[in-house]
Amino acid sequence: MDFLTKKRVKNEGIVPQYYVENNHEAIIPRELYLQVQEEMKRRSLLFKGKEGRRRIYSSKYALSSITFCSDCGDIYRRTYWNNRGKKSTVWRCVTRLEEGPKGCTSRTISEEDLHSAVAEAFNQVLSGGESMIAILRENIETVVCESNEQTIANIDKEMEEKQMELISYANFGKDYENLADEIQALSDRKQAILTEEAESQGEQDRIIEMMEFIENNADKSLDYDEELVRLLVEKATIFENNVVVRFKSGIEIEI
Ligand SMILES: [Zn+2]
Repeated sequence: MDFLTKKRVKNEGIVPQYYVENNHEAIIPRELYLQVQEEMKRRSLLFKGKEGRRRIYSSKYALSSITFCSDCGDIYRRTYWNNRGKKSTVWRCVTRLEEGPKGCTSRTISEEDLHSAVAEAFNQVLSGGESMIAILRENIETVVCESNEQTIANIDKEMEEKQMELISYANFGKDYENLADEIQALSDRKQAILTEEAESQGEQDRIIEMMEFIENNADKSLDYDEELVRLLVEKATIFENNVVVRFKSGIEIEI
């Protein structure tokens, strides 16, 4: 019964390939999956700029591509400022840079001010100490979801039965369209459950990292640190009079 072999199924298009292949789904390691998800999320944020334009970003600096303009939603870019011969490093909204004040009127922030605002956010989190950890612990409980093992096992079993049924339908020349739709729906449902599970696991990991950071640095006052920003900060938003730092653990600090 070489009807079942992938090659033949594929070449003759009798049964679309994935119906049989579902039994041998590739499982991506969780860590890799989460890494990809995080990178996708980071990139998707970049589409939120004015008119949904995509920005080419540099990842050379930890704050590149995660620093946003509160006025127009575009990203802030690191650039040089030459004020009457006095050179300094500043961060400016890209729309403002390209179109001037008619595009966006957001402020220019010196790198020094931006860095100290971010460092201050870290220090405020640290000064929260035990109470901050208690909040994070509560947050973990809200993202923990019950195990879906049994649900997944049921879906797998149902999918397998339907696949066998589909193959016999196809063998006897019967119409299997409905059956194929049902299998696809089951597969979609399984994927959705797995995705949700991995995401809540990822959220938990971010919160745990933050708790560890607080425990390891209790009573310290930290300077700005690129590595810590990469590890813990989700985004920074520049407002006229303040900077809002959002951590990956969900905590938001306004400076
Ligand atoms: Zn702007």
